Amino acid sequence: MPAAQPQNPLPLWLITLALIGAAAVTLLTSQGAGTSAIPYSQFQQLLDDGKVTKVVVSGDSIRGTLSEKLPDGNDNFTTVQVPPDLATTLAKHKVEFSAVGGAGPLGTLLSWVLPPLLFVGVWLFAARAMGGRGGMGGGFGGGLLSVGRSRAKLVAETDVKVSFADVAGVDEAKDELHEIVDFLKKPDEYTRLGAHIPRGILLVGPPGTGKTLLARAVAGEAGVPFYSTNGAEFVEMFVGVGAARVRDLFEQARKTSPCIIFIDELDALGRARGASPMGGQDEKEQTLNQLLAEMDGFDRSVAIVILAATNRPEILDPALLRAGRFDRQVLVDRPDKSGRVDILRIHLKPLKLADDVKLEDIAALTPGFSGADLANLGNEAALLATRRHADSIAMADFTGAVERIVAGLEKRSRILIPKERRTVAYHEMGHALVALAIPGTDPVQKVSIIPRGIGALGYTMQRPTDDRFLMSRQELEDKMAVLMGGRAAEMIVGDDVSTGASDDLAKATDIARGMVLRFGMDPGLGPVAWDTEQGNFLQQPGMFWQRRRYSEQTAHEIDVAVRNHLDTALERALEILRGNRAALDTGAEALLAHETLSGDEIPRPTPVETL
Ligand code: ADP
Ligand code: MG
Ligand code: ZN
Repeated sequence: MPAAQPQNPLPLWLITLALIGAAAVTLLTSQGAGTSAIPYSQFQQLLDDGKVTKVVVSGDSIRGTLSEKLPDGNDNFTTVQVPPDLATTLAKHKVEFSAVGGAGPLGTLLSWVLPPLLFVGVWLFAARAMGGRGGMGGGFGGGLLSVGRSRAKLVAETDVKVSFADVAGVDEAKDELHEIVDFLKKPDEYTRLGAHIPRGILLVGPPGTGKTLLARAVAGEAGVPFYSTNGAEFVEMFVGVGAARVRDLFEQARKTSPCIIFIDELDALGRARGASPMGGQDEKEQTLNQLLAEMDGFDRSVAIVILAATNRPEILDPALLRAGRFDRQVLVDRPDKSGRVDILRIHLKPLKLADDVKLEDIAALTPGFSGADLANLGNEAALLATRRHADSIAMADFTGAVERIVAGLEKRSRILIPKERRTVAYHEMGHALVALAIPGTDPVQKVSIIPRGIGALGYTMQRPTDDRFLMSRQELEDKMAVLMGGRAAEMIVGDDVSTGASDDLAKATDIARGMVLRFGMDPGLGPVAWDTEQGNFLQQPGMFWQRRRYSEQTAHEIDVAVRNHLDTALERALEILRGNRAALDTGAEALLAHETLSGDEIPRPTPVETL
């Protein structure tokens, strides 16, 4: 990555200001050349003395020429008229008098400067409204003159009061962040042996799960300054402004290290380059490049940790996730039942609860709720209790509040009705049991029916294998069977199937097509690369159509072969699950009760022979 400073083209507003300035100077000096501004009384005196040879009157102002030079050497003058009656009276009393007003030099200046200013303002506003910011908060605050100055809160928060005790239900994330806290507390000790601490940590998770809260807690725990910014704050209309802000921010942070820089909603800034169809691209790219350069730039011993948060990691520019940048990602997921109890304990503490309120019962009512939803729940319940003039909040208030919130959440389709939860539980348990039954597959780490991210209603997590470059035919077959486990379980327990398997089917089909088309693993079609891997280097778009290089008949054979592989995989999964029906039932029930099961809590299925 060339860490070159982006060349900032002179921003337009600067040019405009310079032009206005030049105009003003011209105006003022043209007034001054050989012309004196004199009091009106002096003008009258000169008039009486017969020294005025020529006068031009425009409104209140009078310009003219004299027959002899004034003491300052000018023979041109300007003055502003004083109303005649007043002038007469004043003259009688021998007062020196003059008037200001009309279009004096200042007024003229303003009449010159204001219209262009207004024009630039309107243009700015329109430009801002049209693109660039894509509706991301902010707005046109700060006014024209603050454009270019950093709106990032450059003042660090030095005394963050939030601690890890204020965050619950995200224990894994907390564990990962403990190390960062230790490092920020004693950077010297950590670097003594030359160890590197991760520079950037990306908190990934759905909205309201406590990402912002966690970042503040890290600062609070470590007792270091906390620079909080938002990705959207760096996105500006003018090329170079966002980059300058990033530079300012890091400069400031370096002075106060050890410290934390927190960039909330990183996706607003770090969107994959070229991904947005609208304009504003150059600016974003420059800002992003500046951020990358800054992250690469400071040496490893400077104790600055950059935390960022996003709920859309998939759209981030890959360059951001590279080693040395946000190479560590911490998942901040929706809490499971026991996590919800812990979060409720925090948020219900200040409330006055009736004796019948049990945190466990509330947690059981709120699958799929995020930490923010739970905090909101406490408040809603308190409002309901207040409305009925009770002196404490009863369980009925909580059930009422849950219903209210669920109605809102259902629109965003995060809360499952009980029948759906059942289906998801069997589906996920199906994946898990097939994986456990086939020897040699990746061990199952966790099964959950808590919706994750967008789309997935539950998940089965197999320990990520080490980077694999080669996979055997056997392994691919096993993988397909595990993917089919979800659908197979649904088929076994009910006579209907759901749409929940669509993602699994797509993945399994990809594998099957690969086996047939690219890896020569189908005996019927032979060791032929019917389809070569597409020119996917750096994900170049544009190659939509590929010429098919086989006959109509082969195409048909390929379809049949792919289909056969998938049928076989589904059949295998069905067989395994039918043979382990009891484990499937107990497992699904356990999932419904606890929502998340770790690997060793899943009932053991009878192992099967490999194919
Ligand atoms: P995010 O940044 O992930 O969208 P926030 O950190 O802004 O979520 O959370 C909003 C609020 O919800 C927090 O201020 C806190 O009151 C509550 N909250 C969210 N998650 C948790 C949690 N895990 N533990 C305790 N409170 C939480
Ligand atoms: Mg947030
Ligand atoms: Zn599935």
